[in-house]
Amino acid sequence: MNPIKNASLKKYNTFGFDAQCSHLIEITNETDLLELYAEGFFENPFRVIGGGSNILLTRNYSGAIILNRLMGQWMETDEQDHIEMSFGAGENWHQTVQHCVKHNWGGLENLSLIPGCVGASPIQNIGAYGVEVKDRIVTVRVFDTTSGEFVILSNEDCRFGYRDSIFKHPEYKNLIVTSVTFRLTKINHELKLNYGDIQTELAKQGITEPKISDISNAVIAIRRSKLPDPAVLGNSGSFFKNPVVDMDTFKAAQAKYPEIKFFPIDETQVKVAAGWLIETAGWKGFKKGHVGVHEKQALVLVHFGNGKGEEISSLAREIQSDIHEKFGIVLEFEVNIW
Ligand SMILES: Cc1cc2nc3c(=O)[nH]c(=O)nc-3n(C[C@H](O)[C@H](O)[C@H](O)COP(=O)(O)OP(=O)(O)OC[C@H]3O[C@@H](n4cnc5c(N)ncnc54)[C@H](O)[C@@H]3O)c2cc1C
Repeated sequence: MNPIKNASLKKYNTFGFDAQCSHLIEITNETDLLELYAEGFFENPFRVIGGGSNILLTRNYSGAIILNRLMGQWMETDEQDHIEMSFGAGENWHQTVQHCVKHNWGGLENLSLIPGCVGASPIQNIGAYGVEVKDRIVTVRVFDTTSGEFVILSNEDCRFGYRDSIFKHPEYKNLIVTSVTFRLTKINHELKLNYGDIQTELAKQGITEPKISDISNAVIAIRRSKLPDPAVLGNSGSFFKNPVVDMDTFKAAQAKYPEIKFFPIDETQVKVAAGWLIETAGWKGFKKGHVGVHEKQALVLVHFGNGKGEEISSLAREIQSDIHEKFGIVLEFEVNIW
């Protein structure tokens, strides 16, 4: 495991900010966790990083960082119509999706090209193009750093919500995800085509009877055309969640802005498109110092290089208060601020 003292986290976060931690330790095997537990490692502050694509480093961290590199894939069950596959938490998410698509295991194709690792997918219940990972998760295996035991959590145990699960809440920060099991279809795939530009992209490619690989390719093409590649321009994807508001708040905003973009949830709540709010407020393409708002996607805050994490958090707060002032709606951060 060889911990590195006072390590830089620059290459472990997709914003590309430099911050230090007291120790950086890479785990590659579940027994590493048992050894760390036996040494009393978890009695001191620690955090876990997978691909670092959903964190904003605003300061040095005086605790240890665990790089989760638990690899592997194995089959749990193989039925005529579906399969249950487990993947190690350190496996790259997009490669995992591509592996499933290649084997014609359906269910994850709409989540193609999301950066990061398998182990982080349940943390904020990743979602894109009409699919949330909770719809495919059977169980999540975790290491409980308080008891030193491995525990298997059911889908219900994880209490998934919109970009939410128990793992995001302070009382469950003692859990480290070690692997995730997905239920995937082998036949009669449930294709999700009615979200975003999937239909348009398929039509552009002349595809009328799409296979799951076609959907994956369409999602990849759309995402490449709209989202900045973190390898080229530092970012963490959508910085804000789409706010879920009550009817009174929504009606008040709609009276002022009749063209407001929203998705009905039920009779009492509406989900408003955060990107529309930010763009309408005039922030798209905004630049300040070393950071800004992406020119094609107002939900994405970007780092042009040589900046500090605080610049992003201060820009995010400026946007937050402007949106509140203009629309009476509070934007919540999707990215974890460290
Ligand atoms: C260009 C771009 C596009 C994106 N698009 C989407 C999108 O469409 N949909 C979406 O939902 N997200 C999207 N994201 C956000 C991000 O990719 C996901 O949230 C992803 O799951 C984060 O994975 P990660 O391994 O990088 O997590 P990290 O950033 O390393 O960690 C995120 C959080 O999870 C915790 N964590 C990580 N691994 C573990 C573990 N094994 N056990 C316990 N806790 C852990 C960390 O401590 C941290 O709190 C995008 C990001 C980028 C940069």
